Amino acid sequence: MKVVLDHLTKRFPNRTKGEPDVIAVNDFTFEIPDGKLIGLLGPSGCGKSTCLNLISGLEKPTSGKVFFGETDVTDLEPENRGVGLVFQNYALYPHLTVRQNIMFPLQNLKGADKLSKEEMLRRADEAARMVQIEALMDRKPSQMSGGQQQRVAIARALVKMPRVLLLDEPLSNLDARLRLQTREEIRRIQRETGITTIFVTHDQEEAMSISDEIVVMKLGVLQQIGKPQEVYNDPVNLFVAQFLGTPAINTFTGEVQGGHVYIGSEVVLDAPGVPDQEVFVGIRPEGFVLDENGPFTLDLTRVEVMGRDTSVVAAHPFAQSPSVRAIISSENEVDTGAAKVRFSLKPKKVFLFAAESEERIRF
Ligand code: ADP
Ligand code: MG
Repeated sequence: MKVVLDHLTKRFPNRTKGEPDVIAVNDFTFEIPDGKLIGLLGPSGCGKSTCLNLISGLEKPTSGKVFFGETDVTDLEPENRGVGLVFQNYALYPHLTVRQNIMFPLQNLKGADKLSKEEMLRRADEAARMVQIEALMDRKPSQMSGGQQQRVAIARALVKMPRVLLLDEPLSNLDARLRLQTREEIRRIQRETGITTIFVTHDQEEAMSISDEIVVMKLGVLQQIGKPQEVYNDPVNLFVAQFLGTPAINTFTGEVQGGHVYIGSEVVLDAPGVPDQEVFVGIRPEGFVLDENGPFTLDLTRVEVMGRDTSVVAAHPFAQSPSVRAIISSENEVDTGAAKVRFSLKPKKVFLFAAESEERIRF
């Protein structure tokens, strides 16, 4: 089932007099293709949960519409939309067993949708198998780990065979290893069931690793939509460039003059056709090439060798952060005693942004 957002906007009235209203979701128009997993990504407070709640029906939009397929669901109550919801807090019923928790949504079905006890048990077993907790069906939530509880919550969301699965930071309460495992699990289940899924997270790595497409937001405004690697390789503005990637992109203040990109007094790259102006220069850590005759000189801080890769940590007076990080193959020998280190740059890994608007300048 494809999901279409059409000029969707949610404005919350100000909480304190004199303060402006919060536009948590500002004029969102995009389509989530049938059967895909979309990662809704942005920093805390940017409106991710609000957007998800508009899709589920827990919130009503100030303006705009939500379609499931060709059907306008904007005025439908959440329970009539056929959505499965999973939140950060598993929110299981503590006095019910796992089986009873998973079956719970089925017991409220009325009229023609009403199921027999046998059918409910069968569906609960099937959902439990999908998330691999079938051996724990008689336990209470308190007798399970956080990861197991979250699986129960996912099974409970799947048991009604929803048309759309909505996950709001579902891994945030899990420890690092479980987070990794559970996200792979979610990806597998999504592929197996083909349910259109929207996965909300503030963690760019999480979103990048499991999504067919990511939607990057900032302060209620959609920044960019695309395949994770495409957005990483081709960010539309400085915010997106800085939000994606670990280690983060290195940002410098610079200047374009006569088609040359200056950082300080050095011409680090050519940018033919770009008008003279002040810019931010973003360089991905993997964009540096160790080169003793290279055009870009940094103050060497230290060298970290980690198996396959070497991180060269350096400093530069025009860098936006105290340390610059270059990642090069560990086959390179870095003179750790030297005060300076020189690089040339891979043009595809260097982005220019207008100093004022922070929009990308292509060259
Ligand atoms: P996220 O999930 O990305 O952290 P939210 O969607 O929860 O962000 O919130 C987006 C913005 O809307 C925030 O500024 C938040 O304070 C505001 N907001 C969310 N819910 C309400 C509400 N019920 N009333 C007023 N403001 C709200
Ligand atoms: Mg949230």
